[in-house]
Amino acid sequence: METKILPVTEESVALAKKLLLGGELVAMPTETVYGLGANGFDPEAVKKIYAVKGRPTDNPLIAHVHPRYELDKLVYIENDYALKLKEAFMPGPLTMVFYSKGLVCKEAVCGGDTLAVRMPSHAGARKFLAAVDVPVVAPSANLSKHVSPVTAAHVYEDLGGKIPLILDGGRCSGGIESTVLDVTERVPRILRAGLITREMIASVAGDCVVAQHKEGDKIRSPGVKYGHYMPRCDTARFAAGDEKAAAALYDKSVAEGRRALILCETRARASFGGRNAVSLGGNAEEMAANLFSALREGEKAADLIIAVEPEGSGGVYDGVLNRLCKAVGKYGEGERR
Ligand code: AMP
Ligand code: MG
Repeated sequence: METKILPVTEESVALAKKLLLGGELVAMPTETVYGLGANGFDPEAVKKIYAVKGRPTDNPLIAHVHPRYELDKLVYIENDYALKLKEAFMPGPLTMVFYSKGLVCKEAVCGGDTLAVRMPSHAGARKFLAAVDVPVVAPSANLSKHVSPVTAAHVYEDLGGKIPLILDGGRCSGGIESTVLDVTERVPRILRAGLITREMIASVAGDCVVAQHKEGDKIRSPGVKYGHYMPRCDTARFAAGDEKAAAALYDKSVAEGRRALILCETRARASFGGRNAVSLGGNAEEMAANLFSALREGEKAADLIIAVEPEGSGGVYDGVLNRLCKAVGKYGEGERR
């Protein structure tokens, strides 16, 4: 199938609407990463998402709606703090998990009783979602396990020929996926870290905890157990402060004739002298914005990506570290895939 890449205009949104309501998949820009959307009321369309991505069928999808969509059509809002969080952070990179009213098809929630909902702030996403006026269930628009896409070209690399349309809304500004927050209990619980931080949520909701995913636990966010964000080359990760060891691995690899690339924060860049080292940024937000594109460029240009963790922690660093640790295995801990 031919895959069109079109900028977001009235005509392209009209085409996207026709395709989506006709049961096809449409890739859309958001402020976090590109999403691969299907009509959440259409089980056959939703099944295509899992087939096209190669996504495990027990990993549920997030329903995306426009800001005027009434959430209580889709979910039970049982806790008042959820309304305060909606007021504070929606539209934006926050996904909230509620008990579902069952209108979004069971294929999208893998038969579960909850539904994750998000309202993107990206202007292109909003135009598309307002036009279709149905919940658009969408995971990131990459092949399962691969690095998430932050440009239309990244989507095309993974899904070109498999979907009819990519709406091109430019480069995603946020760079990592939304914060996923369980709001079904008395205290909100972060299932996946992102740009809306624990501190920001607690300041509005009064409290916020972070889910600890321990072995044997009932898994509330199945996606966390799968390999993710992995570039198609060898990788090695070092802790902040281990720049000497990272440089030694780089030198050894280059001496063996391999193309190596170091990814680090700005502070650490000077430790690597004339080596091929790229700074992801000087703070957590910059690192989030640059991480996935650096991994996608890195996998094309290098045989080995060596990543050094940022020194900072808390806030957006939690989201950056979560993605970095899944994308790049710790050096010395063996083969991960
Ligand atoms: P992706 O679409 O690839 O960004 O992944 C979406 C994330 O949201 C995954 O980690 C899912 O497991 C999680 N998620 C989606 N729906 C739910 C839900 N109903 N309950 C808990 N987590 C969810
Ligand atoms: Mg994903």
